[in-house]
Amino acid sequence: MYASLHLVKSLGITFRRFVETYVDDLRWFFKGGFGARYRPDTLPIRQSPTKSRGIFTVQYPAERLPLPERFRGFPFLIEEEGKLRCTACGTCARVCPPQCIWIVRASDPETGKPLREPAEFYIDISICMQCGFCAEFCPFDAIKMGHEIEIAAFDREKDLLLDLERLRKPLSYHAQIHPTEYAAEQEKKQARAAARARK
Ligand code: SF4
Ligand code: SF4
Repeated sequence: MYASLHLVKSLGITFRRFVETYVDDLRWFFKGGFGARYRPDTLPIRQSPTKSRGIFTVQYPAERLPLPERFRGFPFLIEEEGKLRCTACGTCARVCPPQCIWIVRASDPETGKPLREPAEFYIDISICMQCGFCAEFCPFDAIKMGHEIEIAAFDREKDLLLDLERLRKPLSYHAQIHPTEYAAEQEKKQARAAARARK
């Protein structure tokens, strides 16, 4: 009898949550219109154990949890003022544990001398284990870990072997997803420029 009472009580809680989910949908609708409950700023309320009503799981893919700044997706190359920061030094390819980076250094068409830029750059993100070593060891802050996570594809070679065009991303993207790191880099850059000017 005692156990049955607890069973009824727990089923009651589940039922209350179920009904409240629909009530909550309406509440968000009247508060902010369609999609209000899926806005990033309303997520902390919806996920709060004390403030939320109804279900508090994330309704993926309509709703997404914000990724932390240091989240490691897949690597990308930074393009600054129309030029890649990468000098084709090859450090990233050497430290990559599963060896999924391939680089071909560019060379001067007239002299044949090697240039400080890549002619080709490939990362096989079907092999990449998102360790971040490439970004950590790059001496030029040229490669960073992006925030892409939805990479499911049918054709591995076509969709998951990223070439130079797909790897390059503007500096503004880096600034947007890594604001703290970007600010620290800018500070260092300014300090170096000031030191040079003093000499
Ligand atoms: S991304 Fe960095 S480590 Fe890799 S080749 Fe370019 S400059 Fe070197
Ligand atoms: S994140 Fe790790 S596995 Fe992926 S390319 Fe960089 S070093 Fe290689």
